[in-house]
Amino acid sequence: MTDASSSAPSTVTVIGAGPAGLMAAERLASTGLRVTVHERMPSVGRKFLMAGRGGLNLTHSEPPAPFLDRYDAPARERVAEWLKSFSSADLTAWAEGLGQETFVGSSGRVFPRAMKASPLLRAWLVRLESLGVEIRTRSRWTGWKDGALSFDTPDGERTERPDAVVLALGGASWARLGSDAAWTPWLEEAGVAVAPFRPSNVGFDVAWSPLLRDRFAGQPIKGIALTHAGRTVRGEAMIAAYGVEGGGVYALSAGLRDAIERDGSAELTLDLRPDLSRPALTQKLLKPRGKESLSNWLRKIVHLDPAAIALLREGEPLPTEPGPLAARIKGVTLTLTGVQGLSRAISSAGGVTLDAVDERLMLKARPGVFVAGEMLDWEAPTGGYLLQAAFASGVVAAQGVTDWLQTR
Ligand SMILES: Cc1cc2nc3c(=O)[nH]c(=O)nc-3n(C[C@H](O)[C@H](O)[C@H](O)COP(=O)(O)OP(=O)(O)OC[C@H]3O[C@@H](n4cnc5c(N)ncnc54)[C@H](O)[C@@H]3O)c2cc1C
Repeated sequence: MTDASSSAPSTVTVIGAGPAGLMAAERLASTGLRVTVHERMPSVGRKFLMAGRGGLNLTHSEPPAPFLDRYDAPARERVAEWLKSFSSADLTAWAEGLGQETFVGSSGRVFPRAMKASPLLRAWLVRLESLGVEIRTRSRWTGWKDGALSFDTPDGERTERPDAVVLALGGASWARLGSDAAWTPWLEEAGVAVAPFRPSNVGFDVAWSPLLRDRFAGQPIKGIALTHAGRTVRGEAMIAAYGVEGGGVYALSAGLRDAIERDGSAELTLDLRPDLSRPALTQKLLKPRGKESLSNWLRKIVHLDPAAIALLREGEPLPTEPGPLAARIKGVTLTLTGVQGLSRAISSAGGVTLDAVDERLMLKARPGVFVAGEMLDWEAPTGGYLLQAAFASGVVAAQGVTDWLQTR
C-alpha cells in the first residue's frame, strides 16, 4: 500500500508498545506499511512482562461460547467480532510461531512452556525489526498540536503527521508500568467519549480480626466455590492484610465492585468444601472427636487447613453440632467493605467507549485514528481473557487501518 502522490509506502504511527500496539504494528508492517511505534517508557511491554511473572496466561482453551461469556455483557458482542479475527487458537499458533511452545494447564488456561514473557517478547522484537518496524522509546505522546501528533522525547518535542494512527495506550491500572490514562482529556477534547476508569480484577477490603490478619495474611484458600449475587465460581481466594484477593475473587470482581459502589458493602460467600454436599459433610462430622482439638479434628476429617479453619472462626463462635458446622463450612460469608484502588488492580474497566469507535475500531470523531487494547471500555476476569482481547483488538485495528487506507 502506497501514498498515491509519491508511491512511498503509507505511514502509520502506533502509540503504546504493549501487546495491542505491538500486534497492530506487526500486522501493519506485514502488509508493507511503514510503521513507527512510540512508547513513553524506556523499554517496551512492561505490563506484558509483569503478566509473565505469574506464568503469562496467554489465553484459555475453552470453547468459543463459554469463552465469550467471560466478557462483560455490554462489550461482549464487539469482543466476539475481534475473536473472529484472532481466536485463542490463532494466539496460541502465533506464540508457537515465535518459538514459544505452549501448554494447557489443568484449569484450561494456556501458558508458554517458559512460564514467562521475556523469551516471547525478545523473539517478537526480532520479528518486528525484520519487518522494518521502528520503535522509539522514551517518546511520550502529549496529544495533537495543529492536527499533528506531538511527542515529548529526550531530544525535545517532536511532531508527526502519519497517514493513520493506532492508539494502544493501555488502561489505568499499575500506572508505574506505563499506562497512566493521561490521554483521557486529549481524547475528550477531540469529542471522544471516555468512560471513567474503575479497578477490575482487584482485591477487596475485609475487617479481619487481628489474629486472622497477623497469622494468615498471604495464605491461599484453595479449591473453594465463591458466590456473589447468585453467581458461583470455583477457584481460590488469598487472604491479604487488607482483605481478600486471588483468582476466584477476581472472577466476581466486577459484580462485587458494582455492589460496593451502589450499597457501600457486598457479601461474598465461600463454600470451603464444594465437592461434598451438606448431608455428606454432616455425615462426616458425626464422627466422634474424642480428645482431639476442634481444629485438628476438622483438619483430619474434612481436610481443612489452618487458614480455612481460622476463616470459619471469624466473627462468631464455631458451632459444634454436625448440622450447623457443615452449614458454616459450606457458607462462610465475608462482608466486603471497600475496593482496592487502580494502582493495585490487574486491569481496569472504562476507557474509550465502544460507541465512539466503528467496527474497524476507528474513532468516529477522528477518522484515521484507531484504538486497540485495554484503553477501550471492556472488562473480563483473569484467565487469559485480557491478553486475548488486547491482542485481538490490535489485529482488528490493523486490519481497519489497511482497509481505510485503501478506500480513502
Ligand atoms: C500484575 C499483572 C498480571 C497480569 N497477568 C495477566 C495474565 O496472566 N493474563 C492476561 O490475559 N492478562 C494479564 N494482565 C493484564 C494484561 O497485561 C493487560 O490487559 C495487557 O497488557 C493490556 O495490553 P495493552 O497493550 O492494551 O496495554 P499495556 O500493556 O498497558 O500497554 C500500553 C502501553 O502504552 C504506553 N503508553 C501509555 N501512555 C503513553 C503515551 N502517552 N505515550 C506513549 N506511550 C504510552 C504504556 O507505557 C504501555 O507500554 C496482567 C496485568 C497485571 C498488571
